[in-house]
Amino acid sequence: MLQLDEVTVRFGATTAVDDVTLSLDEGQVLAVLGPSGCGKSTLLRAVAGLERLDAGSVRWRERDLRGVPTHERGFALMFQDGQLFAHASVADNIGYALRLRRLGVAERRRRVDELLELVGLPGYGARRPATLSGGEQQRVALARSLAADPGLLLLDEPLSALDRSLRERLAGDLREILVTTGTTAVLVTHDHDEAFTIADRMAVMLAGQVVQEGTTAEVWRAP
Ligand code: ADP
Ligand code: ADP
Repeated sequence: MLQLDEVTVRFGATTAVDDVTLSLDEGQVLAVLGPSGCGKSTLLRAVAGLERLDAGSVRWRERDLRGVPTHERGFALMFQDGQLFAHASVADNIGYALRLRRLGVAERRRRVDELLELVGLPGYGARRPATLSGGEQQRVALARSLAADPGLLLLDEPLSALDRSLRERLAGDLREILVTTGTTAVLVTHDHDEAFTIADRMAVMLAGQVVQEGTTAEVWRAP
């Protein structure tokens, strides 16, 4: 379980995240929804260990993450721009995380193929990121995030750079991939439809605070 208790993050006079308490069961996807500037990214970055907390705590599997650096949290992060390594092949981009885990060549290749299949890009291993469309690049970025078998996947507006029809298609695929792999994820988005498609639960933020929280169906119906 991911548990946030009374989390506050300030930047000078700005309180970006204001006393947020939230929890998420494993295997579930939480969308953090709200207008630009409401504190969604800061909240996600706090979970990742990229922002220091001014108050409160973040716990994962009962462990308080205070003082645990980002790379030791075992989470994967994916952003709007997937930030692929431009000079490496698609397979190497995905395999990088596996190399860190010291998997052998054959096992690594098998796992890369499996991930490419999962994200709908079978046979793309030898391509360079620059030869892929924006949507394909985000699929590769997702495969790379999943390669490390993250306990928790943190997604910050992963589809926002794509055009509307592609975004809708990829949102459906992303939902399916998260469910198939049983991945626990927090998705930051300003797009209500996207949140509804991808997530099990929603937390709606306004000016740093969570003003509504529940299953997607509960929040969807609320006035
Ligand atoms: P969102 O992701 O919902 O667009 P952010 O978390 O990026 O919102 O920002 C929340 C508030 O915190 C905004 O007022 C923003 O200007 C401010 N903020 C975010 N990051 C910083 C930073 N590094 N330094 C100063 N202010 C920041
Ligand atoms: P420092 O060693 O600079 O005082 P901390 O030990 O307070 O830093 O925090 C180290 C990292 O852990 C930071 O990246 C911060 O975002 C994160 N962090 C701090 N407090 C907590 C907390 N209560 N729960 C989860 N993460 C925290």
